Amino acid sequence: MTVESAVQAGYLVAAVLFVLSLAGLSKQETARRGVLLGMTGMGLALAATVALALDRSERPVGVTAALILLVLLVGAAVGTWRARTVEMTQMPELIALLHSFVGAAAVLVGYGSYLTESRTAGAGATVHNVEVFLGVLIGAVTFTGSVVAFGKLSARLRSSPLLLPGRNWLNLAALVACGALLWWFLAAGSTARSTGGGAGLVPLLLMTVVALALGWHLVAAIGGGDMPVVVSMLNSYSGWAAAAAGFMLGNDLLVITGALVGSSGAILSYLMCRAMNRSFVSVILGGFGAEPGAVAEGGAVEPGSYRETTALEVADRLTAARSVIVVPGYGMAVAKAQYPVADLVARLAARGTTVRFGIHPVAGRLPGHMNVLLAEAKVPYDQVLGMDEINDDFPETDVVLVIGANDTVNPAAQDDPASPIAGMPVLEVWRAREVVVFKRSMATGYAGVQNPLFFRENTAMLFGDAKEQVELIVAAL
Ligand code: NDP
Repeated sequence: MTVESAVQAGYLVAAVLFVLSLAGLSKQETARRGVLLGMTGMGLALAATVALALDRSERPVGVTAALILLVLLVGAAVGTWRARTVEMTQMPELIALLHSFVGAAAVLVGYGSYLTESRTAGAGATVHNVEVFLGVLIGAVTFTGSVVAFGKLSARLRSSPLLLPGRNWLNLAALVACGALLWWFLAAGSTARSTGGGAGLVPLLLMTVVALALGWHLVAAIGGGDMPVVVSMLNSYSGWAAAAAGFMLGNDLLVITGALVGSSGAILSYLMCRAMNRSFVSVILGGFGAEPGAVAEGGAVEPGSYRETTALEVADRLTAARSVIVVPGYGMAVAKAQYPVADLVARLAARGTTVRFGIHPVAGRLPGHMNVLLAEAKVPYDQVLGMDEINDDFPETDVVLVIGANDTVNPAAQDDPASPIAGMPVLEVWRAREVVVFKRSMATGYAGVQNPLFFRENTAMLFGDAKEQVELIVAAL
C-alpha cells in the first residue's frame, strides 16, 4: 500500500469517527464516548496529514518533520494552557476566538493555494479559482466577525449594536462588490495562467479588504443579547471556510469535517433562535439586543411587592416537601453553586423526596451550559430533564428552587404579548405550590426585562449569592 492510499484510508476512518462522535454528543449519557471518538478521529487525521506532508516533502524529511513538530508543540502548549485556565462562563468568548483562527487559516490557505499551485488553463483552473475566492471570502468574514464577537463577549468592545444608517444596504453593497471582484478575478486568472503571473491578486486583495470589513460590520450590528447565537453562526461559517479550504487542497477529510461543522453550527443556531423566540434572519440582520442588565422597552410589568425568605425557612419547606424541582440558570454558573446544589439534591433524595432538575434549552450562556455544570458536580443524568419533559409536572410539585435563572422562567413570555420575550418557551415554575427564587437583587436577566414571577403570591425571594445560600440550606438540613 502506498503512503497516499494509507492516508486516504486513515481519512475515511477519521471521517466515520467524527460522525459517530457527533452522534455520541447528542445525548448526555453518551457524550463522553462522543468526545473520545472525536479525539481519536482528530489524532488519526493529524497523523495521516503529517505522514502525507512528509511523503510529499520537497525539503529534507527531517527539516519538514522538525517544523511540523515545532508548530504542533506550540499549538498544543497554548491549547492546553487555555483549556485548563478558562472559566466555564468564558467558554463562548474562547470559542469565538478559536473560530477567528479557522477564518484566518482559510484566508492564508486560499492565498497560499493561489500563489503556489500550478494552474493549467481550462475548467479545472476556473473551479480552483472559485474555490480560492470563496474560501478567502468566507474565511475573512469569519475572522473579523469572530474577533468582534470575542471583543463583545469579553467586554473589550461595547456590547450594544452598532447601527450605521442604511446598514443592510451597506452589507448588500459589499456582497455586490464581491460578486464584481469575483468576475474580475476569474477574468484575470485566465490571463495570469498564460503569463505565469498573479494578475488576479489585485481583485483578491480588494475582496479580502471588503470581506474583512463586512465581517466586522455584520457582527458589530448585533447586540450582546444575541451574541451566543452569533457565535454558533460563526461556528457554522468556520465550518464552510474549512470545507472551502478542503476543496482548494483536494483534502476530502477537510471537506467532510467542514461540512459537519458548517451544518451542525447552522442547526444549532436555528434551535437557539427557536428557544429564544427570535427569527434567524432578524439575528443576522442585527440591531436587536440591549445591554445586559438594562431594562428593555415594551412589556407592561409594574413592579409590585415581593416576599423575602431565609435559608432556614427554605430548609423547613424542603423538609416538608414530597416533590421538588430545581431550575438552574446563569446565576448558578456565576456563583459556581453546582456542587452545593448537587449535595442538597442528594440529601433530599436520600430522605425519599422526589427531586429533579428542569433545564431550559438556553439557560446560561451557551447551549448545554447547565448540563455540563451538573455533570461536573456528578448529578445523575436521570435526574436532569429538559423543559418539554418536565413542564407538565410543575402543578404536582411542592417546591421549585429557581437558582440564578430569570428570563427562562418569566411568565411574561406567555402572558404579555407586548413583552420583548413574548412567545419564548419558558419553564412554567409558577404553577408549582411554592417557588423560591435565588438571586442577589431585583435586577433583570440577560434580556433586560422585568420578571412578574418575583411578585407572585406563591413566590419567595432568597437574596444573596446562590452558593452561600444553598450551603446555608444544606447546613440547616
Ligand atoms: P438570566 O441571564 O436571565 O438571569 C440570571 C440571573 O442570575 C440574574 O437574574 C441574576 O440576578 C442571577 N445571578 C447572577 N449571579 C448570581 C449569583 N452569584 N447568585 C445568585 N444569583 C445570581 O439567566 P437564565 O439562565 O434564566 O437565562 C439565560 C438568558 O441568556 C436568556 O435570556 C437566554 O435567551 C440568553 N441566552 C442564552 C443562550 C444559551 O445558549 N444558553 C444563548 C443566547 C442567549 P442578580 O443579578 O440579581 O443576582
